[in-house]
Amino acid sequence: MSHENIFDLVIIGGGPAGSAAAVYAARKKIKSAIITTEFGGQSIVSDDIQNWIGTPHISGYDLAKSLESHVKEYQGEILNIIKGRVVSVSQNDDKTFSVKTSKDVVINTKAILVTTGSVRRKLEAINADKYEHKGVTYCASCDGPVFTGKDVVVIGGGNAAFESALQLAAYCKSVKILNRTDKYRADEITVDKVSKNPNIQIINNAIVDEVLGEQFANGIIYNKTEKLNVEGIFVEIGQIPNTSYIDFIDKNTIGNIIVDPRTQKASVEGVWAAGDCTDGLYHQNNIATGDAVKALESIYIWLQG
Ligand SMILES: Cc1cc2nc3c(=O)[nH]c(=O)nc-3n(C[C@H](O)[C@H](O)[C@H](O)COP(=O)(O)OP(=O)(O)OC[C@H]3O[C@@H](n4cnc5c(N)ncnc54)[C@H](O)[C@@H]3O)c2cc1C
Repeated sequence: MSHENIFDLVIIGGGPAGSAAAVYAARKKIKSAIITTEFGGQSIVSDDIQNWIGTPHISGYDLAKSLESHVKEYQGEILNIIKGRVVSVSQNDDKTFSVKTSKDVVINTKAILVTTGSVRRKLEAINADKYEHKGVTYCASCDGPVFTGKDVVVIGGGNAAFESALQLAAYCKSVKILNRTDKYRADEITVDKVSKNPNIQIINNAIVDEVLGEQFANGIIYNKTEKLNVEGIFVEIGQIPNTSYIDFIDKNTIGNIIVDPRTQKASVEGVWAAGDCTDGLYHQNNIATGDAVKALESIYIWLQG
């Protein structure tokens, strides 16, 4: 392959992780391209983000705009911005990579940083989509405080559900956990904490059928006939990472890219990943940007040989 038209780094994704990476790459004068379908990432739909450090309140839309404009400050010879969807990444014989977009554009690079995040697994129940952002929410740490003093329910049986319930119990009137089976996927120590919290009740073998409401959600029906009057419905039934287009690196059973948390390196030399697409335990905007900055430090040293 000709090495004249090759980038040092291709960043895939333009959420908080990809945007942070692009700014750092440009400032380090790494010849880079960022390829993304859009800027902003998952919290673009949020009305009020209250934990973006340094900014007490910002809408997801404004956060997306500020990320995009920060990246565009550096657009030019060193940093290319390519709007598009990546459909495949392959490794060439000389260990470089070829990144293909849905418009059949192929971009060659020495290093790759994957920051394509994930999508939340959605609740499959009648009216769950109708009441999304009107009581049905997919992020307890983001939206929880809005439900201070209210009765809420958390749907799920893993760590995310149990940890969300513990967070919510500190300020909600009551918290119920609806678990599909009678087994928990959460760690024993977390289950123990939940069981001892007088403000949390676990209901096992419960399958949600419908979300009730008027302008906002005000209840749910589960197991066909059982009703709960709740104003907040927190869905924590897992995430689906956007990583199917890259298949030669190690991933966990869900598809999260396995990284070394000290450097964000993936299993194949020349590939890094940051943010929600990784197997990192916690996923937040601030964590995604921090992971990406860490990756860039590692990539910079690697590119210098
Ligand atoms: C409703 C909601 C509210 C939230 N609120 C908060 C909050 O208040 N505070 C907080 O800290 N966290 C919040 N989060 C979590 C936070 O949004 C994520 O942790 C964060 O967005 C992860 O950033 P990321 O860059 O890793 O991935 P993402 O934000 O998922 O960004 C991925 C990017 O990759 C792009 N992309 C995806 N696939 C491709 C592809 N094949 N080719 C090219 N581009 C692609 C997408 O367009 C997007 O730009 C919220 C999440 C949700 C769902």
